[in-house]
Amino acid sequence: MVFYLARHFGFCYGVENAIEISYKALEENPSKRVFLLSQMIHNQEVNRDLQNRGIRFIMDTDGRQFIPWEEIRPEDVVIIPAFGTTLEIENLLLDKGVEVQKYNTTCPFVEKVWNRAEKLGVEKYSIIIHGKPGHEETRATFSHSSKDAPSIIVRDMDDAVQLGNYMLGHSSRETFFAKFDGKFSTGFDPDRNLSRVGVVNQTTMLATETQGIADYFRQLMVEKYGAENIQDHFADTRDTLCYATNDNQDATYELLETDAHLAIVVGGYNSSNTSHIAELCARKFPTYFINSEAEIRSPAEIHHFDYHNKQKIVTPNFLPGKDPVKIVLTSGASCPDTLVDRVLLRLLEFFPEAKPVDALLAVW
Ligand code: SF4
Repeated sequence: MVFYLARHFGFCYGVENAIEISYKALEENPSKRVFLLSQMIHNQEVNRDLQNRGIRFIMDTDGRQFIPWEEIRPEDVVIIPAFGTTLEIENLLLDKGVEVQKYNTTCPFVEKVWNRAEKLGVEKYSIIIHGKPGHEETRATFSHSSKDAPSIIVRDMDDAVQLGNYMLGHSSRETFFAKFDGKFSTGFDPDRNLSRVGVVNQTTMLATETQGIADYFRQLMVEKYGAENIQDHFADTRDTLCYATNDNQDATYELLETDAHLAIVVGGYNSSNTSHIAELCARKFPTYFINSEAEIRSPAEIHHFDYHNKQKIVTPNFLPGKDPVKIVLTSGASCPDTLVDRVLLRLLEFFPEAKPVDALLAVW
């Protein structure tokens, strides 16, 4: 067997920090109720462990309430997850007297996007957010940027082009409002607010896609207002991409250069950055997105997640009859490295002739 491991994979700074603070919150408050606004990170194992230690989730990742706000009391501990939260929820908790800053695990790289959005707002730009409208981080970024600037969310290049069509006068106001319903800030006027824009992103989107969207709007502004006036109409925001997302995606591009037969990507099924890594791998290899080694039922059966249709599927005979079998193995930013180890060991069980891991590691 040959495994190709990504140069960068797994836990990022923001996730490690969030997990550390959550366990600290439990340790420091043995007699208090400890809540998490929503799942700490998009990893079921970590979330389950935290729940087993007594943490309760207030909402699910789509913002559906498990515990009504009326049940939250001032003395409760409420942890804000790595994605951050909306200003509305933060204010609601502050009004209740909950000390939200003590265990606020909002990732500094997400805050960096908020700060950039604020600066753009001061400079009178409107903000185009490239993100998934239902994702916690995008909801939080939208809430923060809407405070400072007219803001609108585009999910992908299709959305960007539809917005661009309006900006170029190729579609009607009705079409705009129908298409972007619920994705723009209160009072957003597409006629007034789209002549000076900057693009920021949900930090775990595909970096190349964000760049493509930013380039698209830049070019559109050049067409509309002339290259000499571009600075008055488009802000360069390349620096809002998160380092971990960049590193993990760049490392995945390198994996695409290998001669592997298949790819296995490990991570939570609701993890945005993991699904993007799976998406990249699928450009070249049959790719199986799994959340643990338990999904590899036998050499002839793997249960994995189809991120396009958001459903689990089963693939028989996923291991090709090659000798050696070459497998790309990587994981998302919210996946503990031990999970990748377990997947590797699980696969090795099917190849009794393969060199034992200990013998290989002894060399190092
Ligand atoms: S992926 Fe990036 S922005 Fe998100 S938690 Fe990790 S370091 Fe922070």
